[in-house]
Amino acid sequence: MAEEPTKYLLKERDIPTHWYNILADLPSPPPPVLHPGTGQPIGPADLAPLFPIELIKQEVSTEREVPIPGEVREIYKLWRPSPLYRARRLERALDTPAHIYYKYEGVSPAGSHKPNTAVAQAYYNKQEGMKRLATETGAGQWGSALALACGLFGLECTVYMVKVSYQQKPYRRSMMQTYGAEVIPSPSDRTNAGRKVLGEHADSPGSLGIAISEAVEDAATHDDTHYALGSVLNHVLLHQTVIGLEAKKQMEMAGEYPDVVIGCVGGGSNFAGLAYPFVRDKLTGAQPKLRFLATEPESCPTLTRGEYTYDFGDTVGLTPLVKMYTLGHSFVPPEIHAGGLRYHGDAPSLSQLVHEKVIEAAAYHQRASFDAAVQFARAEGVIPAPEASHAIRAAIDEALQAREAGERRTILFNLSGHGFFDMAAYDAYFAGKLEDYAYPREKVEEALQHLPKVG
Ligand SMILES: *Cc1c(COP(=O)(O)O)cnc(C)c1O
Repeated sequence: MAEEPTKYLLKERDIPTHWYNILADLPSPPPPVLHPGTGQPIGPADLAPLFPIELIKQEVSTEREVPIPGEVREIYKLWRPSPLYRARRLERALDTPAHIYYKYEGVSPAGSHKPNTAVAQAYYNKQEGMKRLATETGAGQWGSALALACGLFGLECTVYMVKVSYQQKPYRRSMMQTYGAEVIPSPSDRTNAGRKVLGEHADSPGSLGIAISEAVEDAATHDDTHYALGSVLNHVLLHQTVIGLEAKKQMEMAGEYPDVVIGCVGGGSNFAGLAYPFVRDKLTGAQPKLRFLATEPESCPTLTRGEYTYDFGDTVGLTPLVKMYTLGHSFVPPEIHAGGLRYHGDAPSLSQLVHEKVIEAAAYHQRASFDAAVQFARAEGVIPAPEASHAIRAAIDEALQAREAGERRTILFNLSGHGFFDMAAYDAYFAGKLEDYAYPREKVEEALQHLPKVG
């Protein structure tokens, strides 16, 4: 019997030497990023207090290939190349003629794709002589990734963790502390922003918006400290393209090319990381029929129900204005378990590609996503992060459609992380306590009233 591989493995020497920059291939030039005060396009000087110059250059670069520093590739070897799996057991369980592939990013030490950019960001900050990085974290995935990366480069790391998560996710906090980070429940008395909130609500549970304000203030008021962001920005999406560049080689090993590429979207980094090297094939005309599906929660449906317009990146309104799909920066989504998908906006390049109909988007309810996650775990073994379950839902639906149509469809999705720290969410699912939040129409309409006026 011919051997039928379950996973496709590359060698360490196959780790990409360059990241792929989609800005070189976009069908039209990206809309400028605007200063929140003046409404004029921002320049490098506006970002210099927060980010190292190399990352600012990457943010605006239109070079197609950006070299990956040797030291970063060395660290990538701890978990890269990540495996590509053919989900043969899931295919059998679904009785589908479709071929399902998934790229598994849960093999990183922090358990998600986020270290792919955290390591690069820590590297450039170290190069520029920084001593410390400050950031925020909600569910703890990004904080864990940055804590890991800072530890590897001998940088100090301060993580402002949303206070409710700090209390509800004690093991993510322990993980960050194990890597050497200082974890501060936010709002805190360390910053003006935190003290102001505490002055008004001493028992505030915190929010990602407040935590961002604290981390940015910390960085802006300390010369030896920069800020780091785990998604949305061009340079973050750029770093994540190692995922798709590897996947392309692995699909070649499997002798196949996808019909559809799927990923879940919070800010867009894991989706873009897998998809953009394939998007290039569509934009150049090499693969005109290739489809892309960006998936999100029904409770925070930015790409499917948001407006494509200028908005702030943060909740408070301090960051530059970017053109993106947004539900309004003051929109606070319901408390779903996929904490990484509760962002009011999306990466600008992804928004543009959805707007130009290169990429499709779909939204799923929380329970339907967990149905898919449990089915996946029982067939393939890995327990998915609640975020990734939104990609799995779409992949399973594609496979079921292929069965209905009696057609061979090749499906590729990103399994962005494992769910080992999210078992409380699975408990809630099995206890029948997971809620399906309807589209919060009134809250979104209210938030869209407060969009900044531009132009
Ligand atoms: C943070 C996170 C996401 C969402 O963020 P993106 O930038 O959209 O990728 C998805 N999956 C996992 C496992 C995450 O940790």
